Amino acid sequence: MKGLKQFRVKPGRAVRLAEIDPAWTGGFKDKDEAREALRRNIERMSKLQYRLYAQKKYALLIVLQGMDASGKDGTIRQVMSGLNPQSCCVKAFKEPTPEELDHDFLWRIHRVAPARGEIGIFNRSHYEDVLVVRVHDLVPRAVWRRRYDQIQAFERILAANDVIILKFFLHISRAEQRRRLEERLTDPSKNWKVAPSDFKERKFWGAYQRAYEEAMTRCSTRRAPWFVIPADHKWFRNWAVSQVIVETLESLRMKFPKPVLTGREKLE
Ligand code: AMP
Ligand code: MG
Repeated sequence: MKGLKQFRVKPGRAVRLAEIDPAWTGGFKDKDEAREALRRNIERMSKLQYRLYAQKKYALLIVLQGMDASGKDGTIRQVMSGLNPQSCCVKAFKEPTPEELDHDFLWRIHRVAPARGEIGIFNRSHYEDVLVVRVHDLVPRAVWRRRYDQIQAFERILAANDVIILKFFLHISRAEQRRRLEERLTDPSKNWKVAPSDFKERKFWGAYQRAYEEAMTRCSTRRAPWFVIPADHKWFRNWAVSQVIVETLESLRMKFPKPVLTGREKLE
């Protein structure tokens, strides 16, 4: 499928979210076609994960960010459904605990970064410290301002130590967020998902979009790229995320380690 590359944020290029259509669906004829492509990607991911685990050279870090109801949980549930839990770890970052607040903001992140051979999935991440923290002045401006450079330095360290980093911004429209929040209010199986804070945060939509734009503009690098994923259509979002992961893992050309034994040994 052509066109996905355009959502990779080129280092140094300013992101303007208003210019990216959240309802874009690429060249797919319909959602069935995309679902079939997703199914194939899930199978490929499973095989690639097996190699990643066997080779134990690289780790893969997948960062998921987006507004409330943008589909971070759904992406994990659907796109990662073929992964072997043995070498995969999901970490959700909530409001920092008092202990976490007593450390630098990257402390809680670095300690759960994936090890060689593993896939780590972050549901929210260190970026919250230049997003919610910035929008609500949770620390002085001078403090969060410095964090863009600190994040770049941190991700450079990970990348230099064989962590492959992919960062996804699930881009939904304000209207789509409203639909999803309303559904959470009316559907009894979704009630639990909705928090008063979701309605409060919605009022800060513009401030969040600007914070995301700056974070992605300043922290999309060759080794730790950001991708803006059109996410109004869940089926497209799922396929797009899976496609980036598969293409990235395939580009590593991972091989199974050389056998320790010759294969000619006799079993008793
Ligand atoms: P949810 O992802 O819906 O479970 O919500 C988690 C909440 O924790 C969100 O409102 C985040 O903005 C918030 N959160 C995550 N990280 C931080 C942080 N570093 N500082 C403040 N709030 C955060
Ligand atoms: Mg929430």
